[in-house]
Amino acid sequence: MGTVDRASDQPEWALPLIDLARCTGCGECVRRCPTQAVALVAGHATIVRPEACSYCEVCESYCPTAAIGRPFTISFAPPRRDAA
Ligand code: SF4
Ligand code: SF4
Repeated sequence: MGTVDRASDQPEWALPLIDLARCTGCGECVRRCPTQAVALVAGHATIVRPEACSYCEVCESYCPTAAIGRPFTISFAPPRRDAA
């Protein structure tokens, strides 16, 4: 959950990414999304209510073509100074 940057209308938090080339428009993510954040628009999955998306794993888990997924950034902590 988060807020929307009104200057750009872009959400200030991560949302699932949708690969339109892979999306078949089957609607499985729409049926299973617990918050109705995703819907079919012009035959493809689209995040229509970004403020409602809880970034859960449901759409990613059930998509039969791996068209929708949640990107994560892996950050490595700097080495500890007291490490041998
Ligand atoms: S489940 Fe996957 S293929 Fe089906 S509409 Fe959603 S993103 Fe597209
Ligand atoms: S991450 Fe969860 S809440 Fe967000 S669109 Fe997918 S199923 Fe819906």
